[in-house]
Amino acid sequence: MGVRFYADSWLTTSAGVGLLRALENAGYRWEDFVEGNTIELDEEAFEKLPEIYSQYLLKDLSLERFREILEKRKEKFNLYNAVVYEKINDFFSNSPLTNPSGTKKVGEAFNTLLEREGDIQQLFSEGKKLIAEFIREKFSEILNYQESEKVCYFCRERHAYIKKGKVKVLDATNFTPLAASLDTVENFFWEGRSNMYLCPECEIFLYFSAFGFHRTPARTYLFVYLPDLENTKRMNDLLRAETDLRSFMNRTIVEASKILAGRKADWILRNIYIVEIEKVGDAQSNIYTLSITPRLASAIKENIDKYPQVFNNLFEVFLEYVYSGRSLYDFIYKILSGFFYKQRFKRLKSKGRDAHLIKKGMGFKEFLPPKLTYFIKFQEVLEMEDKEKVSKQVNWAYSEGLNLKNTYEQSMGKEKANRKIEGISYRLLDAIRRRDTDAFQQNLIRAYLEAEREIPYVFVEALKDGSFNRIAYAFLIGLNGRSKEEVE
Ligand SMILES: [Zn+2]
Repeated sequence: MGVRFYADSWLTTSAGVGLLRALENAGYRWEDFVEGNTIELDEEAFEKLPEIYSQYLLKDLSLERFREILEKRKEKFNLYNAVVYEKINDFFSNSPLTNPSGTKKVGEAFNTLLEREGDIQQLFSEGKKLIAEFIREKFSEILNYQESEKVCYFCRERHAYIKKGKVKVLDATNFTPLAASLDTVENFFWEGRSNMYLCPECEIFLYFSAFGFHRTPARTYLFVYLPDLENTKRMNDLLRAETDLRSFMNRTIVEASKILAGRKADWILRNIYIVEIEKVGDAQSNIYTLSITPRLASAIKENIDKYPQVFNNLFEVFLEYVYSGRSLYDFIYKILSGFFYKQRFKRLKSKGRDAHLIKKGMGFKEFLPPKLTYFIKFQEVLEMEDKEKVSKQVNWAYSEGLNLKNTYEQSMGKEKANRKIEGISYRLLDAIRRRDTDAFQQNLIRAYLEAEREIPYVFVEALKDGSFNRIAYAFLIGLNGRSKEEVE
């Protein structure tokens, strides 16, 4: 009997895809090892895993690249770290494969060689050999620990091992991003268990997960998960050419629709999600799981082309909101907070996505772009509101806000009007935050009175019938907008 691995969560499936890719890279027909969501390696293939692993690690290392690395080397040069870290260190920092106290040895061995050997070709092949030997040594160390009584959480057939007197469990060394954000992913495979015992074979298997993920230029990592290993591999292979989350996402939807067209049930589409890992610190990451519901897929397909350019740098955040089911009104609220409370957020240091939104708002100096209303419309479409009705209401409320601003400017001059509007905006935003329709309405009436205008009746009606958010936000954006003439 061979060694079996199970792909039944996004984590183990990413390892599965990584392992299949590595097998393929080593010249195997990967399909031969797959049955359903199980990968079974015969003894011979399992024996070769360290070579298969290092071959995949080294596959992009050309002689030219090698020469470049040598030329750029600094004092404490470590060939292993220079070549291997960029591939796996974000995933398994401090693992046996990356721990600097362990890799030091390979680095030194190569440096000794470097002093003696002048032939680059020779150095190239010796360097690769050293890296491969190190991987073999580490895998074999893992496999030779003493076995415990505990059954492995991942395969439920082999036993976890004992290391330094403790039964081995999945931890930050085996998949670093997870350890930093257990809350985020708890529901996906944690299943309430606190002890995820890990056997040597499954540990090695998990070290392939880095090969399943797709690294974007922004150094985020993407993986599409389908509850089906072969399709997951094919899908992720197709997506390797996509450069950012947006194109990745669009392509996923297109490919998922194709898979869907071939099958009658839509369960597969409902169970597809994109796992995105965003590194925010040396050993800290955020994990986002974005699920694709049919409703969301169609909203995206219909409206994504109109996504406003001025918010391009918030696209990932936008997707994270809609795919995780967070309301885009919170998204808008954060932008508005940044815009209105520039002083308060001046020292904002935190990274991560909500901080992006606040900073974006702070970046708008004098007025808010009308395109901000795109997010209102998108949210309403997601909530299955009538697209045309929404669009009409939003545009109307927006221009009402803008009109009121113009009235103020005409009657009291620009500077005074600005201060006035600022005060009104604070109060309105606060009312929105508290979802206090009455307070919003009273402030609105006051604002209109001061401008010696009557509050449009439609307003009063609209605020009553569950359209509060869309009317209130659109009005506030208009009130802080800028008329067309000024823009041109
Ligand atoms: Zn296991």
